[in-house]
Amino acid sequence: MPVMTDEKENYQVDTQAIRVGQQRSQFGEHAEALYLTSSYIFPSCEEAAARFKGESDGNVYSRYTNPTTNMFEQRLAAMEQGEAAVATSSGMAAIMSTLMSHLQSGDHVVCSSDVFGSTVVLINNFFVKFGIEVSYVPVNELEDWRTAVKTNTKLFFLETPSNPTNRVADIEALSKLAKSNDIIMVVDNCFCTPALQRPILFGADLVIHSATKYIDGQGRCLGGAVVGSKALIEPIIGFIRSGGPTMSAFNAWVFLKGLETLGVRMRAHSENALAIASWLTEQAWVRKVNYAGLESHPDHALAKKQQSQFGGVLSFEIEDDKAAAWRFIEANRLMSHTANLGDAKTTIVHPATTTHGRLTDEERQRAEISDNLIRIAVGLEDRQDLIAELERCASVALQ
Ligand SMILES: *Cc1c(COP(=O)(O)O)cnc(C)c1O
Repeated sequence: MPVMTDEKENYQVDTQAIRVGQQRSQFGEHAEALYLTSSYIFPSCEEAAARFKGESDGNVYSRYTNPTTNMFEQRLAAMEQGEAAVATSSGMAAIMSTLMSHLQSGDHVVCSSDVFGSTVVLINNFFVKFGIEVSYVPVNELEDWRTAVKTNTKLFFLETPSNPTNRVADIEALSKLAKSNDIIMVVDNCFCTPALQRPILFGADLVIHSATKYIDGQGRCLGGAVVGSKALIEPIIGFIRSGGPTMSAFNAWVFLKGLETLGVRMRAHSENALAIASWLTEQAWVRKVNYAGLESHPDHALAKKQQSQFGGVLSFEIEDDKAAAWRFIEANRLMSHTANLGDAKTTIVHPATTTHGRLTDEERQRAEISDNLIRIAVGLEDRQDLIAELERCASVALQ
């Protein structure tokens, strides 16, 4: 399993993204090799026995280890400044495996209230069945986290910045609270990626990724990963080996190539999003813009401390009501009407009736997800075309 021995790990994150972890075969291939094999040949009985006993780290079976997947794990671990990483079949598999290996019946979890929808379903419909308790608190309200801590609290789970309003958690303050109570702090870093934010540097214990989003970046493959100390990653590896939510070698190979361009893509997503957010603030038909890159955003200073840029996701409230928001989205001919994000293609969605439709009216109100809120995950198209399209949608929806 991934051991950090590579001198390239001291490079800057953009160099790590291209150089860390590659294991070249005897053929001297320049690009990372794709090892499509489910199992491995043992050179001798002695070596086979050693591998089964865990005394040799040679490969046995691709549910346990695969050289292509190992390259991805080493590269991502270095980029996140973690000691080790383990890859999973999806982002949700990373979350499930983390909770399965670090919680037991009777434990309590504090979770930020606007995490990814399936995370809430996974905890409420499944982990609760096995005796896990959960409390939800707003990601940016440190005092609410403090008062939610109980004697049996074992784990904090949060996403920052939040979806879709870009509220930001003070990772350093939360990690101090976690440490003083022996709580494992887990940050889902899907929205920023290590190109923009490295939660471990601010005290997070484990970082989770849905590689499906920006790490792939072009909407092709499902995958996930968990990064952290060896001590915290080892139990997760143990669960994945036996439970089976392993990343496919093919997907790992796609994600390795995705990591190589992650830095330039995240900067381009961020620049496009900032330009569009700024433009939106100047439109008479826009009531409010949620983007942490705007100085007017309540969490701008905190975001600036933790993130190098502000990412691709923004949301805005338009004049009028839900019907107008729906008309706006349906008038659009350029952006993809889908709940997905982290793609070169810009996506647009109505959170109140889709991604956040499961929340009660009160929860939505608290999270400031109003009926006239629209979310855009800004892609890599020319921003002039995106702005022209938004202007056209407004003229159709609000005439
Ligand atoms: C998509 C997403 C996930 C789940 O990832 P999958 O790869 O779809 O399983 C988890 N967290 C966040 C923030 C996401 O956007």
